[in-house]
Amino acid sequence: MGTKISAKFDGMCKTCGEEWSVNDEIYYQKTPKAICSDYDCFKGQGGNLDSKRFNSSSGGSFRNETIITKVPDVNPSDSVKQIGDTWDEYMVVAHHRAKDLYPEQDVNTHVFGQIRSKIIDQLLFITSILKQKE
Ligand SMILES: [Zn+2]
Repeated sequence: MGTKISAKFDGMCKTCGEEWSVNDEIYYQKTPKAICSDYDCFKGQGGNLDSKRFNSSSGGSFRNETIITKVPDVNPSDSVKQIGDTWDEYMVVAHHRAKDLYPEQDVNTHVFGQIRSKIIDQLLFITSILKQKE
């Protein structure tokens, strides 16, 4: 399994010619050997990223940060509550879509949450396209 590391030396990819300097982030795998700062090229060389390690090294620190949320003290009107109910429906659909698309992805991860929220965006976008056609 390969991993993302910061380069200890200046280097150049023998495959695509991409150059990197000390402390640049590059992809590296011992066996089969693959090294490049370009992820696609790294994959092309037979590189494989250990996704769990990749996620914990890149996202681990901020994922554990405490986020203070100050919720405004207002009473939402019924129409806004209805929108909230509609959002719930999108959320459910997006959740199941994300699970179908990425069966290997743990539901309780930051990554899954990001995928799901992206799918909600896409569903809303498609909804607006359909509305325009009406
Ligand atoms: Zn390369």
